[in-house]
Amino acid sequence: MKKSNLIALARTMMATSFPELRGMTLKLKVIDTEDYVMATWLEGKEIHLDLSREDAARMGRSVIIGVLAHELCHAEEDRRHGPFLEALFSWLYERFPSLETRMERRIDFAVIRKGYGNELLAFQRYHDLHYEPYDQTDGLTAKEIEEALRHSHSPGRAPLQDVSRARASRWRGPR
Ligand SMILES: [Zn+2]
Repeated sequence: MKKSNLIALARTMMATSFPELRGMTLKLKVIDTEDYVMATWLEGKEIHLDLSREDAARMGRSVIIGVLAHELCHAEEDRRHGPFLEALFSWLYERFPSLETRMERRIDFAVIRKGYGNELLAFQRYHDLHYEPYDQTDGLTAKEIEEALRHSHSPGRAPLQDVSRARASRWRGPR
């Protein structure tokens, strides 16, 4: 997916499903990295998303929505904590992997509650195909997401309205 489309998609998701991120500015970079598919951190009112170039070129739309939803849930939790608590938690996560595991699994459940479970599953399958498959200490596995979706009574999310396209279409009608 092209960078401009990625940014439009992330902005649309923020407006649709991440009310706590309202007023924040998105900074998305496509970079060469072997370390991750996507990383997120907050700096004041900016949300930074770094995305691996190789994955950006290879991921389909639903896979990208899945990883974006996961990262935006991290951003939402970080914002709720604020910079001081967040620094403390990062310190703890480095020293106590079991705390990090619980956090990653909590984030994945938040993604499902927001109605992005199918996309999270698409991302997990993509990840397990191209990288070392997740185990339960990394977050929810594909199997666990499937299970959660079977038991989920979430009404699902509202369909994503592409903000930029909606605006453009207004110019097409007869005057
Ligand atoms: Zn994560």
